[in-house]
Amino acid sequence: MALSPTSYSAATNKAVLDRYMSLPQPDNKILATYVWIDGTGEFVRTKTRTVDFCPKHPSDLPIWIFDGSSTYQAEGSNSDVYLYPRAMYQDPFNRGKNKIVLCETFKYNKKPTETSHRQSCLEAMQKAADQHPWFGIEQEYTILDQDNYPFGWPKNGFPGPQGPYYCGVGANKVFGRDIVEAHYRACLYAGIEICGTNAEVMASQWEYQVGPCEGITMADDLWVSRYILHRVAEDFGVNVSLDCKPMTGQWNGSALHTNFSTQAMREDNGIIEIEKAIEKLSKRHLKHIQAYDLRGGKDNERRLIGSLETSNINDYSAGVANRGCSIRIPRSVAEDRKGYFEDRRPAANADPYRVTELLVRTVCLDE
Ligand code: ADP
Ligand code: MN
Ligand code: MN
Ligand code: MN
Repeated sequence: MALSPTSYSAATNKAVLDRYMSLPQPDNKILATYVWIDGTGEFVRTKTRTVDFCPKHPSDLPIWIFDGSSTYQAEGSNSDVYLYPRAMYQDPFNRGKNKIVLCETFKYNKKPTETSHRQSCLEAMQKAADQHPWFGIEQEYTILDQDNYPFGWPKNGFPGPQGPYYCGVGANKVFGRDIVEAHYRACLYAGIEICGTNAEVMASQWEYQVGPCEGITMADDLWVSRYILHRVAEDFGVNVSLDCKPMTGQWNGSALHTNFSTQAMREDNGIIEIEKAIEKLSKRHLKHIQAYDLRGGKDNERRLIGSLETSNINDYSAGVANRGCSIRIPRSVAEDRKGYFEDRRPAANADPYRVTELLVRTVCLDE
């Protein structure tokens, strides 16, 4: 299967597009591409405007509105939803001084929309700021063809069983590396703390990691990395799925492993703090499960089955180097007696604002 996006009906010629993309841009005009989370809580929307100054901070940019009745975020009779610029990135698609602007969505009454969790996340991060919470998130995803079947899989069947694909190399082992490479570089250009990538256990499944990031930056960066991922895939004529179990049966699901540490955990003998955190988390397993996918735990029922490198959704467990646990302490952390731990429960489509907020509230704020 060639990667050239000529085989689907809406494909256009990217070489012709380049003639226009390379036109010189007036110095005093900047494209600001506003990005926000829509009413699904999973997908992002975007629209672009010209500004005639170079913004240095997101608050330099105008508050904007959009039609929330078209994004599952408002009724048609009261449809204007506000976009508040919150974080700004270099735009790898438009280049130059052009910006991606990550926004928070507010209703007519200035309350966050139902799927907007940044405000309460920020409150928690500010309260815990003196503990310097760091996060590193592993985003797993699956590349799908236009027919929504995994990219590169035989059209009427399945590839061979899992084994050769994880960190694989070779045309019969990994599918869609172009998307992965393009996404990595686009994230670096944008200013996202992307720190790695690898092919995953299921064929056409991949992962990248962002972090370590302190506080609210973790979720901001991850959301923009997701926007960039969907946008890059669009260029290649494929789709990206964050579904946590895209294929049933003996195929690995997709997670959003969330690695976490406080300053005390990173200092000598920090393992004691890590053990305290693991104990606190044990008391709130259900609450975390309910926040760790977009359907109150229902999505993760398909993934957290106690096999295929997952724990059972109903059990809480922790272990060193054990990928069948809710919480894993990496072997190097156990050896050093300091560092961080990994929460393996969040599903690939979980909202990082909710995941990082809850970790901080449980571990740092004892709420
Ligand atoms: P795995 O072995 O689970 O596949 P990865 O190498 O994919 O682990 O991801 C490790 C993640 O842990 C990265 O996102 C990295 O940024 C993060 N990380 C490393 N050190 C820390 C730390 N002290 N606190 C929080 N996260 C960390
Ligand atoms: Mn990983
Ligand atoms: Mn992984
Ligand atoms: Mn992991």
